[in-house]
Amino acid sequence: MRLGPAMRFRPAALERRFRVHSERRFRGTRRLALGAGILLYMLFGALDRLLFPDDYATLWLVRYLLGLPLPLAAFAYLLLPGRRRLAEAALAASVLSGGLAIVAMIALVPAARETYFAGLILVSMFGYTVFRLRFWPATAVSWLTVGCFELVAALTDYPLRPLVSANFFYLTANVIGMMACYALDWDARRNFLLLRTLRRERARVARLARHDALTGLLGRRAFLEQLAGEWARCARLGLPLSLLAVDVDHFKRLNDSLGHAAGDECLRRVARVLGEATRRPGDAAGRLGGEEFSLLLPGAGHADAHAIAETLRARVEAERIPHPDSPVAPWITVSVGAATAEPAGAPGPGCEALLRQADRALYAAKRGGRNRVVALPPPGLARGRGA
Ligand code: GH3
Ligand code: MG
Ligand code: MG
Repeated sequence: MRLGPAMRFRPAALERRFRVHSERRFRGTRRLALGAGILLYMLFGALDRLLFPDDYATLWLVRYLLGLPLPLAAFAYLLLPGRRRLAEAALAASVLSGGLAIVAMIALVPAARETYFAGLILVSMFGYTVFRLRFWPATAVSWLTVGCFELVAALTDYPLRPLVSANFFYLTANVIGMMACYALDWDARRNFLLLRTLRRERARVARLARHDALTGLLGRRAFLEQLAGEWARCARLGLPLSLLAVDVDHFKRLNDSLGHAAGDECLRRVARVLGEATRRPGDAAGRLGGEEFSLLLPGAGHADAHAIAETLRARVEAERIPHPDSPVAPWITVSVGAATAEPAGAPGPGCEALLRQADRALYAAKRGGRNRVVALPPPGLARGRGA
């Protein structure tokens, strides 16, 4: 884990992302914890009345007028919708506010000091645990309160024995709180990293599943999904949709003459040419299997598709990938079948008809002598539409 004893991620950008994540992750918990904390703090007013019938007015003044406003404001802030950048600061300030109010009570009502240092422990426990503060802010506010308590003890005639006893409990509670907070902070950070890894891994697996391992083009399933999506989009927008079926000529002979590795390299190079032909958003190149590729061209009509197919064929030929055993040319060539539809209706039958049409065009190109384009004219496509 990229996490030192300072309990802070490096680089700083990761730490920032962790804080944004924590704010979202602990939003509900913190609202609940602060609400409960405020309620309990207010309920302790009953103890003021019960234990100190002569001084409860002073205690209430300090408790409700000094200690309460800040936590209440923090609570209102946490209830606001959307991202609360200062949530952690608001909670830390609430801990400090509650703690200092109790220190003030101890200062103003000497009779309260022997019991109320326990209240300081309760307040710091909220800061160390349920508020889900990071280790350092939680530690800072609690020890600041400790400092104020010691200052009050020094400035008032706090008897030694109860002070020593109070300190034993109060300081020990703070050490335990720090240990708990450290463990919680560590866990929160580890969970954050695990979640990040998990999300990245899931995205990577999804990407791998979509793409063909050899060429990096879309695999058959992803390509067909893309086709269906583009069909629906073109139907909505009233755009034509063209599909090219591309097949390497005499590929089996290449494998047989130069070997499988040369065959694979040839597929990668043809795929690169295909990938470069996808220019507009929505365009997609896929490997449908073996040495058969397809290019999806949303928005392209019959003439566009024909032109793009011809460019593609010429680019593959221009690659001059050696194919000594081809009866067509001494280099790799492809045959291309182009089909165009004007999508309407559900993608299912429409896409199938378009794929069939492109295949028909491809085999016409093969029969015609290979290394050529056949683009079936729109009248034939009209039959295929929505069929
Ligand atoms: P045509 O001009 O009629 O398309 O002839 P062709 O030889 O290209 O057609 P055919 O479909 O008979 O042969 C396709 C060959 O592609 C058969 C198979 O050995 C080869 N092939 C399929 N997948 C791969 C692959 O991933 N790598 C390699 N190297 N060869 C493959
Ligand atoms: Mg072939
Ligand atoms: Mg083939």
